[in-house]
Amino acid sequence: MSMESRISSWLRCYRCWSRNLEVQVHYDAIRPIDPETGIPTEGDDEIQESVVQCLDCMHDQPHLTFERDRVVPVEDRWERMVAGTPWVASCTVTVDADQVEACAGPEAVESLTYGAFGDAGTREFFTHVRFHKHHDDEISVHLLVELYARNPEEASEVLNNAARGAIEITSLAEESRPPAHAQGDTH
Ligand SMILES: [Zn+2]
Repeated sequence: MSMESRISSWLRCYRCWSRNLEVQVHYDAIRPIDPETGIPTEGDDEIQESVVQCLDCMHDQPHLTFERDRVVPVEDRWERMVAGTPWVASCTVTVDADQVEACAGPEAVESLTYGAFGDAGTREFFTHVRFHKHHDDEISVHLLVELYARNPEEASEVLNNAARGAIEITSLAEESRPPAHAQGDTH
């Protein structure tokens, strides 16, 4: 397999398969200032955060990450997401209350999502928190989750691995993949 075809298998939007991507990179730098000129000296810029996006469907690409000078695939994620289809799960995750920073106010949805599924919940999955309930020191978060997987077993495995507490999946249904972007699908 040529280098190019190997790269094109993962360097594409996982939803619409477009290869028209961009990366947003945020740097943070601390540099000593030259006392004679006022010019900061060269220093290491530290990447704080990077997000790869598809310019055709505008979605984030959590199967791609920016490392040093190039975008590389996230090994345990890209094949499942690029080759998979969307699955929608209705589920309940029960976690210790102290895993949820805020359950009311403007931060509530993100805190509940992060409390239930960690990074996967806020970066990879599309989630909708339907409601939550307190029981003593625990919070049950009821959510609808969309994730990409190649079959139902893999979809439940991904949900189980991401859940930060006991998870109960009450339904899991396959959706159809969004239409492929015409130009990205010529290989
Ligand atoms: Zn796309």
